[in-house]
Amino acid sequence: MRDDTKCLHSGYTPGNTEPRVVPIVQSTTYVYDSAEEISSVFDEPTKSLIYSRFANPTVMAVESKIADLEGGIAAMCTSSGQAATLLAILNLCDAGDSFISIAQIYGGSLNLFSFTLKKMGIECIYVDNDATEDEITTAFKPNTKLVFGETLANPALTVLDIEKFAKAAHSKNVPLIVDNTFPTPILCKPIDFGADIVVHSTSKYMDGHALQVGGVIVDSGNFDWKSGSFPGLTEPDMSYHGIIYTETYRKAAYIIKARMQLMRDFGVYPSAHSAFLLNLGLETLALRMRKYCENATEVALFLKTSNKVTNINYPGLKDNKYHNLAKKYLKGASGVITFSLVGGKEAAIKFMDTLKLASNVIHVADIRTCVLHPASTTHRQLSEEQQKAAGLDPGMIRFSVGLEDIEDIIEDIEQALEVI
Ligand SMILES: *Cc1c(COP(=O)(O)O)cnc(C)c1O
Repeated sequence: MRDDTKCLHSGYTPGNTEPRVVPIVQSTTYVYDSAEEISSVFDEPTKSLIYSRFANPTVMAVESKIADLEGGIAAMCTSSGQAATLLAILNLCDAGDSFISIAQIYGGSLNLFSFTLKKMGIECIYVDNDATEDEITTAFKPNTKLVFGETLANPALTVLDIEKFAKAAHSKNVPLIVDNTFPTPILCKPIDFGADIVVHSTSKYMDGHALQVGGVIVDSGNFDWKSGSFPGLTEPDMSYHGIIYTETYRKAAYIIKARMQLMRDFGVYPSAHSAFLLNLGLETLALRMRKYCENATEVALFLKTSNKVTNINYPGLKDNKYHNLAKKYLKGASGVITFSLVGGKEAAIKFMDTLKLASNVIHVADIRTCVLHPASTTHRQLSEEQQKAAGLDPGMIRFSVGLEDIEDIIEDIEQALEVI
């Protein structure tokens, strides 16, 4: 199946007289005929349902749809994008380990990596998104367990050279994890370019309607865990009667460990109802992504015509620094544009407050056009130096183009620009 079809049909195939639409299985637990049967389920937890803290039929339908869209072998949904990033890393790093990440990542990831993981004894080594392969491999320490990047960074809008980062990671026998939130699998499938694990905040385009926060981890099944140093996967798990994930689950070792061990212990699984809503968003994802790209291109071209606007950053534009990488890796540059105004931060605030159609929200990638000033909101906790490293300037506006009629979006921008 192609993506448009997968969006509608992957993950759930009803049998005779079964519901046409993925049903909401709103139950914490599942009934068994005998106590003996229940105890056997604990020996083979991937074969049956036990408890909705780590598996639920509605959520599983969505997991398999997303895995199919990304070209992975399996996926696990989480209750937020942050939880997906956290578990994706904790599944490989213990206290005393380190990992490499590009510096131009989402603000929430930056906080998690720089402060919370550090407190847990896990060090993040930052490299630039534009680092050479040599610079990436030189940053490795003997305890480095993975490389992390963001396909199209929020809000820096840098484009990751996935093949380069995958090559550097694989030369050191560690996997590449990619946050693919902004492109979604419709605009980019990082696994096709060598990424091993993909994470998402499904709160953005995947849900699309700003209905609920969620995340997902997708496993390509391609990484050979035995080639590196991953005792958590290749040695007995004493919290699971000595199971060895790579032996029992082979290609699916990573994602099954994440569920059986980390989801069991952290319990950040979404509800059936949330998954049901996410599925509704996914059904139109392919259609919506094309329209976001189309509208955002028009907005970016319009902004270029104004002498009040500077630093227009949209990788879909020909003169953008990342246009060639965008052409290689993305089928479109999504709906997010950043820019500054000649009057700096003050003008930016005035502009944002004058917009009528576009709303001020702490959100992005919504079906409705929205704006945000990253330096005073999502990146407020960072120092100016960290903000710069993350690729943002103090006056920068993040403009998330929605699916309204393009004439209405442009008229709104026009009237707000007139005021400044
Ligand atoms: C929003 C976002 C996250 C965090 O996801 P939540 O669902 O808000 O927890 C992670 N990565 C990127 C790129 C994001 O935009």
